[in-house]
Amino acid sequence: MCNLITEGTSHGCGHYVITKRVDKVDCGNPRCKHSNRHDPNCRDCFGTCSQYLGPDRSETVTQRVKDFCDSCHQYYFIRKPQILAEQRAKAAQR
Ligand SMILES: [Zn+2]
Ligand SMILES: [Zn+2]
Ligand SMILES: [Zn+2]
Repeated sequence: MCNLITEGTSHGCGHYVITKRVDKVDCGNPRCKHSNRHDPNCRDCFGTCSQYLGPDRSETVTQRVKDFCDSCHQYYFIRKPQILAEQRAKAAQR
């Protein structure tokens, strides 16, 4: 399983969002989809090979922002108000 060395932004919600893949630490395993030794014409890749990258080998925070990351922003500012509005509408019907 290969690992990445990344640079990213640390968000106010506590998430680290990758902005740049600096380098890859190759595991050298031909049964790893991400390795340079993996056969690009691999036939039964899903059946035989590891499809996932390992945890980042090193994460370098290049920027810190107070804003939430995209997925948290979606949840807290778009999805959650919708859920609350739906709950309020339901409560008002009773
Ligand atoms: Zn690998
Ligand atoms: Zn494969
Ligand atoms: Zn977040």
